[in-house]
Amino acid sequence: TRRKFVAGNWKMNGHLDHLRELHGIEKAAKAHPQVDVAICTPATLIAPAVQRTPDLMIGAQDCHAEDRGAHTGCLSAPMLIEAGAKCVIVGHSERRDEQCETDRLIRGKAEAVHRHGLTAIVCVGETEDERDAGRAEDVVMAQVGRSVPRHAAGDWLVVAYEPIWAIGTGRIPTLDDVAAMHATIRKELADMIGDAAGGIRILYGGSMNGDNAADLLAIDNVDGGLVGGASLSHDKFVPIIEAAA
Ligand code: 13P
Repeated sequence: TRRKFVAGNWKMNGHLDHLRELHGIEKAAKAHPQVDVAICTPATLIAPAVQRTPDLMIGAQDCHAEDRGAHTGCLSAPMLIEAGAKCVIVGHSERRDEQCETDRLIRGKAEAVHRHGLTAIVCVGETEDERDAGRAEDVVMAQVGRSVPRHAAGDWLVVAYEPIWAIGTGRIPTLDDVAAMHATIRKELADMIGDAAGGIRILYGGSMNGDNAADLLAIDNVDGGLVGGASLSHDKFVPIIEAAA
């Protein structure tokens, strides 16, 4: 059976003083050892976060597909490791959109993350127009097919389904729609990589909070959450950890 995984994504939020929120999160993570808990801070906060809360998994929000070179402003997986990151989000919809990231690029990033022994959280999800047009499952299947490496396995790769229209909006799909999408992703993974698909965690992301987490996390094939806004304060994030426990 798959361990639940609750990951926070701070996006471009937080300064050194915000790391105080991590103490309560670390405490809750220790109290619920059956749940994997991570916070993906801005890259500048990874090292100080690891120093302050060494027992909490800290992650990054992106990395380059290559290890070094002429890529101004970018960070490689070895650099993130040096800072203390244990996992890396790749292909978040905000990067697919604002940084024009493609499935192919995202797959390269996931491979780099794996090459260096970190866990990759590969994000997929449809726009509202795509959902309204009845194309959500096709769009997400195509993203999974192209951005998840063929040698993926559950010990280093996690998929996060984040419907774009649910991110930061307070709206979530119906529980039936979440169940259908997660089952579709599981089946696509099985078609791609066979039995190893059963070990891959599929997280739900998009307006997850302490009120809806228990219902979402009870759905078949929902193996955790990728949490934005509610991960910024321990009093909002800890109830999600508890709901996963
Ligand atoms: P919210 O939880 O703020 O909707 O963000 C979800 C998300 O994008 C996490 O990566």
